[in-house]
Amino acid sequence: MQASDVLVIGAGAFGLWTALACLERGMSVTVIDERAPGAGASGGPVGALAPHAPERWSAKADFQLRALVSLPERIAALEARTGLATGYRRIGRAVPLADAAQRAQAEARIAAAARRWPGARMWIEERAPEAWPLAAPWGLQRDDLTARIDPAALCAALSVAVAQEGGRILPGLRARRVGPGWAQIGARRVRARAVVVAAGWRSFALLAPWLPGAGEPEHGQAALLAMRPPPEAFAIQARGLWIVPHARGVAVGSTATRRRADRRTDAALEAVIGRARALCPALEGAPVIRRWAAARPRAASRAPLVGPVPGAQGLFAATGGFKIGVAIAHAAAEALGAMIARQPHAMPDEFLPRNLPRAAAPWRRAERSEAPGA
Ligand SMILES: Cc1cc2nc3c(=O)[nH]c(=O)nc-3n(C[C@H](O)[C@H](O)[C@H](O)COP(=O)(O)OP(=O)(O)OC[C@H]3O[C@@H](n4cnc5c(N)ncnc54)[C@H](O)[C@@H]3O)c2cc1C
Repeated sequence: MQASDVLVIGAGAFGLWTALACLERGMSVTVIDERAPGAGASGGPVGALAPHAPERWSAKADFQLRALVSLPERIAALEARTGLATGYRRIGRAVPLADAAQRAQAEARIAAAARRWPGARMWIEERAPEAWPLAAPWGLQRDDLTARIDPAALCAALSVAVAQEGGRILPGLRARRVGPGWAQIGARRVRARAVVVAAGWRSFALLAPWLPGAGEPEHGQAALLAMRPPPEAFAIQARGLWIVPHARGVAVGSTATRRRADRRTDAALEAVIGRARALCPALEGAPVIRRWAAARPRAASRAPLVGPVPGAQGLFAATGGFKIGVAIAHAAAEALGAMIARQPHAMPDEFLPRNLPRAAAPWRRAERSEAPGA
């Protein structure tokens, strides 16, 4: 394999955005993937891009908000340069309110959203539109910040952009081990100025010699239902459930099982589909055209894990997207590209892989509040 400045291991959302960020800074880049671009967690059907609840703020919520706000411009540029659609649209979201306590909480949130969310708002509606009905006895908490994207289409567009910028993507190559400025691929040790581990949940095993116990897989299942959603359809979020209207159907997700990493779907997904149909009667009768499962990269901190790996010069981590990885990957990549180029970057200290146990502590508490991801 020809040497590059940057070797990226993994062609998911994190790896591909990182490759682009490095190419745009004038570096030569090779991306390898043991399978193919978008073959991991980044190839699923859900693609909800939703902010954290605004009343309990954290560095992670703030980072994600900035990512959501900056994404449309990045996507517009990506679609323009590649001529490929990613399905991105700011469709908004509804959270059905089931009782008086949820309604009161939603009312309290509105002021916090006005403070925290630039150019976006939250409000309460009494009922859903007829074309997109929803069981919500206490009304709906609505926002106009939540967006959707087709993650597989995003990976396809990013792959084209990487190639257009002169990067190489090599599918079917697996990194067996990594070290300071090197990766072992098959029997060969390949060197690069920067080796970026963006192998999704498998990053944790590759990085274990330097960052033991950094994370684990969390299995998730989702489905795509054949249905043309009405133009006014918004994303719907309930506990453990997302319904996301896309141009090519309506996605329903997701299950969450820690420390499981197979790619099988099972009865738990059927239960999620059943809940979705009960909540949104428009889905009744829409056939399931795709059942899908993958493992999310869940860092021990439950936060992104992005930056130089301590004690291994030339080795970088780009993982920990967990439930919001598609939403934040471009922002994480931008910061990582700057770090590799030794430029100023906007990555909060908490997400640098310096001291995981200490970095983890505040997030454990914050994350028990409402997580936006699927
Ligand atoms: C059911 C489900 C629903 C989700 N919904 C949402 C959502 O609505 N919104 C959102 O923002 N996020 C969502 N997520 C989370 C999101 O999908 C992930 O956080 C994100 O895709 C992680 O991207 P990644 O690039 O880190 O990993 P991946 O996409 O998994 O990419 C890693 C790549 O590395 C490759 N690889 C692994 N090991 C090696 C190796 N040793 N050598 C070479 N290549 C290797 C894999 O083949 C893979 O292509 C969801 C996840 C699941 C499972």
